[in-house]
Amino acid sequence: MTSIAHLSIIVPCYNEELVICETHKQLTEQMKVIEKPYEIIFINDGSKDATLNMLKNISKEDKKVKIIDFSRNFGHQCAVSAGLKYCTGEIAAIIDADLQDPPAVIIEMLKIMETEQANVVYGVRKNRAGESGFKLLTAKWFYRTLNAMSEVKFPLDTGDFRIVDRKIIDQFNALKEKNKYIRGLISWMGYKQVPCYYDREKRFAGETKYPLRKMLKFAMTGLFYFSKKPLQLATSLGTICIGLGILYFLWMLIAVLSSLVHTVPGWLSIIGIIIFFGGVQLLTIGVLGRYIGNIFDETKERPEFIVNEVINF
Ligand code: UDP
Ligand code: MG
Repeated sequence: MTSIAHLSIIVPCYNEELVICETHKQLTEQMKVIEKPYEIIFINDGSKDATLNMLKNISKEDKKVKIIDFSRNFGHQCAVSAGLKYCTGEIAAIIDADLQDPPAVIIEMLKIMETEQANVVYGVRKNRAGESGFKLLTAKWFYRTLNAMSEVKFPLDTGDFRIVDRKIIDQFNALKEKNKYIRGLISWMGYKQVPCYYDREKRFAGETKYPLRKMLKFAMTGLFYFSKKPLQLATSLGTICIGLGILYFLWMLIAVLSSLVHTVPGWLSIIGIIIFFGGVQLLTIGVLGRYIGNIFDETKERPEFIVNEVINF
């Protein structure tokens, strides 16, 4: 039986050979402060470089280091999910391998968790060093749009860098949806969640492992798993088209009766019919969208509610 750690640090790694030793060193350094049992779980997400070998070497000398090696690259969110599934800690910290999230902030988060009696302490980025203007702009725009469209409200400028307690870990592991947008799901769970403000550093070494393609996929998961507004778009467009079609017919009637316009016979009415029935079609697609939305909600099998505590039962 493995001993239960107080803190589990979850570190997803994809081609991080340039940083992994330094990350291990800095995390270990910080853990001296808390003087409680801990484990560091590195998830090797199908790296093609020397990451796995280096991790194996580290784990030979440091038994607190555990490795989960994926059979191929499944993506950052899957790696973090695996870490949460395998961790034994009362508290889990999720941190990137590239030291953009400073390990010292974990200590700060632990203090906040204790004083505030919080279940989640999430990192909020005050500054983001060394990231492209494009990434900053798209991230800013994306999170605000998502908040406007989603039924769940998310804290802004927040990534997955956070600590969560056992309640959250167990609830998270019980979720049945496969495609997980972790920061969103943890927000959705509720309980007491408090921010911890920090400066995001430059990557210690190497390149970002989130090319545009992965960023888009990630953004789409966030959007389509937390908002049904895109499905409802057809309804709104359809209603507008039907309204326009009716107005157009009225105008046409007046124009033809009072001989205001002269066109090829039939042209005006055909345009009117196209607009009107285009609207009818969009509206019915929108109705289908509503049903698909409901099917989608049911298949996700998220629990209807999460109880924090029951009293006098
Ligand atoms: N990562 C991963 N699998 C992937 C892509 C990234 O496990 O397919 C890890 C990566 O090693 C890092 C973290 O996820 O620890 C965040 O990635 P990165 O720093 O490249 O993203 P950025 O900070 O540029 O958004
Ligand atoms: Mg990074």
